[in-house]
Amino acid sequence: MRINAPELTDFVEQMFVAAGSSAAESRRIAENLVDASLRGHDSHGIIRVPRYISWLRDAKLLADQEISVVNDTGSIVVLDGNFGFGQTVGPQAVQFGIDRAAETGVCVTGLRHAGHLGRIGAWAEMAAGAGQVSLHFVNVAGSVLVAPFGGVERRMSTNPVAIGMPSPDGNPVILDFATSVVAEGKVLVAAKGGKPLPDDALIGPDGRPSGDPRLLYGDNDPAVTPDRKDGEGALRAVGDHKGSGLALMCELLAGALTGSGCTGPGYSRIYNGMLSIYMAADRFGSDDAISSELSRYISYFKSARPATAGQNVLVPGEPERNNRAERLEAGVPLPDDAWDAIVDTAAGLGIQAPEADG
Ligand code: NAD
Repeated sequence: MRINAPELTDFVEQMFVAAGSSAAESRRIAENLVDASLRGHDSHGIIRVPRYISWLRDAKLLADQEISVVNDTGSIVVLDGNFGFGQTVGPQAVQFGIDRAAETGVCVTGLRHAGHLGRIGAWAEMAAGAGQVSLHFVNVAGSVLVAPFGGVERRMSTNPVAIGMPSPDGNPVILDFATSVVAEGKVLVAAKGGKPLPDDALIGPDGRPSGDPRLLYGDNDPAVTPDRKDGEGALRAVGDHKGSGLALMCELLAGALTGSGCTGPGYSRIYNGMLSIYMAADRFGSDDAISSELSRYISYFKSARPATAGQNVLVPGEPERNNRAERLEAGVPLPDDAWDAIVDTAAGLGIQAPEADG
């Protein structure tokens, strides 16, 4: 089924108001989640609404928090998200980094204890919109899902990395990915009979790669929400030892360096740490010189003959822009069971869902 994006945004906003967030925060959450869905990252879009509402109810996520400054040494600043919504403390922290880098040329922020920051590329886009290059390394404390290369037991999370570079045509280059072969949301979809996983997405206790979602969720009835503690396997890091190393560096940069905490057993909530580096692009040279070299190189990059006829080479950030254009027109697609879970959560809050199409 498809749901019209503006109606969906209003609906999700009403749900968060009913659940206890201010109108401004509810709007930010709704816009951020609908935007992730529009850009094709369904696993980080409105499918998250029931989980966010239950975390809010259980006080694992707190409404209307402000970041606090833990330590400000000029170009290095440690911020605490105080377990507020990532859609609130995330943009506060990113704006802090952008403002400071505008003064000093570069700013490194360590954000601790942020509620789920969603699609990390959104924060690289925000910096690119201010003319800044940015790099973001994220860990997910309390979510142990990914085996290190050479191991079969879970020790890390899906730790995303995002890098953004502004572009003169207003379409920044945004590389943004989880360091696991697939995001957990995709395993959940496969567990419920949806799109199958690549056959190297997971690893079993016997050390063999597999695409079987039961390795994460066990043999539970897929109609019941599967519990990721029940499986005996783990997600695999992307790119063998290289991706596993990158995921490890996310733990160390976002978890240890920021003081947010690296993941492991014993956490009572799931939250993000994020180490971000903001650079004012104009300090490297004239805007015109950087822009013209970037444009020239991107054209050269994209001019490579396609491996599959009719499928052009894309630049990171382009698939998301293409998805957004298509989904704004046709509506946000959602599997029936994901929509039903959102409608049930809304009913519990006394909110009526909009009509879905199809
Ligand atoms: P993915 O595998 O879809 O990869 C996305 C990246 O690859 C983007 O930069 C995209 O532009 C680029 N890309 C995709 N297809 C391309 C093509 N054909 N040619 C060139 N580039 C292409 O993403 P993912 O690993 O599934 O991650 C999904 C989202 O989940 C990300 O936004 C990530 O930040 C988010 N995430 C968040 C958390 C968290 O705790 N907040 C944890 C994990 C992942």
